Amino acid sequence: MTESEVIPPPEYKTACGGKLKDPSKYPSAEYRGERVYFCTRACLRAFEQSPDAFMAREVEHPIHDEDEM
Ligand SMILES: [Zn+2]
Repeated sequence: MTESEVIPPPEYKTACGGKLKDPSKYPSAEYRGERVYFCTRACLRAFEQSPDAFMAREVEHPIHDEDEM
């Protein structure tokens, strides 16, 4: 099965429950074959640390976009 025609939905949901109109401006990652979006890079980092817990909403998403290494 091929899916050559992918019609994007008008709104993208972030992994933490927010909505995005323009996901290209936000960080994203792949989770179980699906692309998921994050409101901030800090949010993405929290996801990377424990993807399953984050997707199960067991991890609070960080509000501040901190650029720490
Ligand atoms: Zn978030």
